Amino acid sequence: MEIREVILCKYGEIILKGANRQTFESSLVKELRRRASPFGIFKIYYLQSTLYIEPKNDECDMDGMYETAKKVFGIVAVNRAAVCEKSMEAIVATARAYLPAKLAGKKTFKVDAKRSDKRFPLTSPQICQEIGGVVLSTVRGIKVDVHNPEVTVGVEVRDEYAFIRAGQEAGAGGLPPRSAGRGLLLLSGGIDSPVAGCMMAKRGLEIEALHFESFPYTSERAREKVMTLAQEMTEFCSRIHVHVISLTHVQEELRDRCEEDYFTILLRIFMMKLAERVAAEYKCDCLVTGESLGQVASQTLKAIRVTDSVVDLPVFRPCIGMDKSEIVIEARKYGTFDTSILPFEDCCTVFTPRHPKTQPRMEAVQEELRKVDFEGLLDEAYATMQTETKLVYPEYR
Ligand code: ATP
Ligand code: MG
Repeated sequence: MEIREVILCKYGEIILKGANRQTFESSLVKELRRRASPFGIFKIYYLQSTLYIEPKNDECDMDGMYETAKKVFGIVAVNRAAVCEKSMEAIVATARAYLPAKLAGKKTFKVDAKRSDKRFPLTSPQICQEIGGVVLSTVRGIKVDVHNPEVTVGVEVRDEYAFIRAGQEAGAGGLPPRSAGRGLLLLSGGIDSPVAGCMMAKRGLEIEALHFESFPYTSERAREKVMTLAQEMTEFCSRIHVHVISLTHVQEELRDRCEEDYFTILLRIFMMKLAERVAAEYKCDCLVTGESLGQVASQTLKAIRVTDSVVDLPVFRPCIGMDKSEIVIEARKYGTFDTSILPFEDCCTVFTPRHPKTQPRMEAVQEELRKVDFEGLLDEAYATMQTETKLVYPEYR
């Protein structure tokens, strides 16, 4: 018997109620279509709170499509299902053909049946019983466990077809891509900022990235590392424009003219001011950083207060209350950890003061800033900006 398989994705229904619903649904469809191209030709649409991904021919790479669907924010669960006609005979025959291979080696299961078409002649409990019988008679050694099953077999009778699946997996969760506006991520080569970017993308933020380098104090390879990180982030964040600004002259001026202890905080002020300019040019309504309270000298409350006060935009710091070990777990989940720990220098580690001020006062900071041509240096740094675009599957577009 020939089985037609599709991928079904569920989105969080509660958050999608109201006027935004359609926009959210179509942005999920758009995102899936964008990601589908390397895996073949699919028909992708939504119906009754479910996204359908139907392969149009046998050449489609269903595994690849399935894996990429799991990385789309806004989708809470993903499964593969066999499609069949809406009759109990067809459902039973399909279950017989489809389920044994999917359930081989499993110890316990239960069946969960849903009818969105209430005219279907059997009730949900009756469907469960029939399909439960099919599984028990075709899968060796499997038992029913309604409380804690290893796999839940799902049968859904919908408007046009019935769907049968064995298990489902969690999706990436969060809100649909680009549903929350655009933010500018200050992206270093470290562990924290890529995680911060992915966390905000999860809440629907479109991520634009800004990296500061300090060539020749930082190397070409350090920049390549950041580009690799941005590329890895696209798996979850989709397209990312990465802007790179050189802070070389700023750092030399700070080194030559200012108190060493203030160096870190002054550099951060330059970063924030430049980020604000980039945000204005690229229409970003917030900044995002990977700061975590107290992690280093520039991340004490007083230091954060100073850096926050120089910009008008909201600054989101999703890692602020996380321990390093928790951030590492996220970095592994988002696939950026291995690149983040490659040992290349960052501009923050160039000319680091021996005793950075952990409790900077704004007046003292301003006095230091007066020792350099603040606006002139900002203009000069801004003019060094270069931009690269990273795509989920660069080879296909
Ligand atoms: P990360 O692991 O993200 O590098 P960190 O623990 O090294 O963070 P800092 O170096 O103090 O902390 O940087 C704090 C935040 O400032 C980073 O998370 C990032 O958002 C931003 N930042 C630091 N260096 C750079 C850089 N070279 N370019 C762009 N943003 C940077
Ligand atoms: Mg860093």
